[in-house]
Amino acid sequence: MAKKSVNEKLQKKIFLDKKSSWHDLKKDQVFKFADSYKKFLKESKTERLCIENVVKVLKKNDFKDINTITNVKEGDKIYKNVRGKALLAAIIGKNPSKWQLIGSHVDSPRLDLKPHPVYEDSGFGLIKTHYYGGVKKYHWVNTPLALHGVAFTKEGKKVTIAIGDKDDEPKFIIPDLLPHLARNQMERKANKIIEGEELNILVGSIPVDDDKIKEQVKFTVLKYLHKEYGLIEEDFAIAELELVPVTNPMDIGFDSSLIAAYGQDDKVCVYASLMALLETKEPKNTSVAFFADKEEIGSVGDTGAASFVLQNFAHDYAQLTKLKITVSNLFENSNAVSADVTAGMNPNYKDVHDPSNASYLGRGVSVEKYGGGGGKYSTQDAHSEYMQYIREILDKNKIAWQTGELGKIDLGGGGTIAMFLSRYGMNCLDAGPSLLGMHSPCEVTSKADIYSSYLFYKAFFKE
Ligand code: MN
Ligand code: MN
Repeated sequence: MAKKSVNEKLQKKIFLDKKSSWHDLKKDQVFKFADSYKKFLKESKTERLCIENVVKVLKKNDFKDINTITNVKEGDKIYKNVRGKALLAAIIGKNPSKWQLIGSHVDSPRLDLKPHPVYEDSGFGLIKTHYYGGVKKYHWVNTPLALHGVAFTKEGKKVTIAIGDKDDEPKFIIPDLLPHLARNQMERKANKIIEGEELNILVGSIPVDDDKIKEQVKFTVLKYLHKEYGLIEEDFAIAELELVPVTNPMDIGFDSSLIAAYGQDDKVCVYASLMALLETKEPKNTSVAFFADKEEIGSVGDTGAASFVLQNFAHDYAQLTKLKITVSNLFENSNAVSADVTAGMNPNYKDVHDPSNASYLGRGVSVEKYGGGGGKYSTQDAHSEYMQYIREILDKNKIAWQTGELGKIDLGGGGTIAMFLSRYGMNCLDAGPSLLGMHSPCEVTSKADIYSSYLFYKAFFKE
């Protein structure tokens, strides 16, 4: 083999090597991690189910509910469940005055039921929905759906509803228009091909055999819900009911290297950071995992990252640890990672990306200085000092990583919880796997990137 020239050697040193991370990964470990992730995801399709499963895992690993304890010491493991829809978990570090915090979100785009959802038309019982988050509405027609959530009877009894995820349970569906009669529909602009008011779900078709009843199918639908759950029509106005795709996580490709599933944004980071936390032993600083709700609609509400939920937890934490500094100083000392997904290069739509500033599936965890859109609106912008700190962690632990922008500058954009974490005065950046088909009922990730993200979160907690 010919000897490398001086310039060739120099090129190797000064050029960025963008290669697939699969070359350096132990495939059996990557696939094993992916299998347990798929199992978690399958059972965590909604924010409530996800938090329920996070709590189960935490309890099994000796984390204590902060409402059951009055003080903590180094090495103790605690969590705070916020209304069953958001959660904070921590392992008290040797130095309790600094947090290494990783925040992800448990909610995903979906269809919520309207307050008065049930009606009858053309011999069908139907349910009206209101979409939640940024969806392409045409994804949701002809997609089998499961119903999840909670409701209250007039008497105040809380009922949990879960229909459609098991093989032997009925599902729900929005029937699309047949192509034979879609001439006018196909003339519509893509964002109007299916309109919000057309997202009405089939829920029944057998009428009650009684001439005295006017809406005979609506009657049987409401009768069923009354018999099964004790619900009456008015109770829907009080309920939180969501429709999510029935499809379960599956491997994709001859090599099974990819995963397609609903809700990977952002349960992939929830799972990876949760596993990273469980494997953190005797951390130098306190490790904190924040699982936030409502990211998909702007992190609003009392369970979203824009609320004071993190600050409230910090006050609880200060009391429990008898913290010697103020909560604001604690925040200013702390480092944060907004663990969220980003867009990966899609070979069918390459023109929306700047190829040299895009993330690619399989090249490792994507670390982003900023997100947002246009002139860097709706984001934060990490300091170079913090980016260097993170690069050192990645290099030291030999973790495959890359960076990219969400897409071409003026084509759109998207936010994460990074801007809400950084407002406390902590260092922050975004880091997570890139994916294809984000916000669709079947998002695609690379098992390699899920594993690299998990390795990075673990290394970050250890700092
Ligand atoms: Mn997200
Ligand atoms: Mn999202």
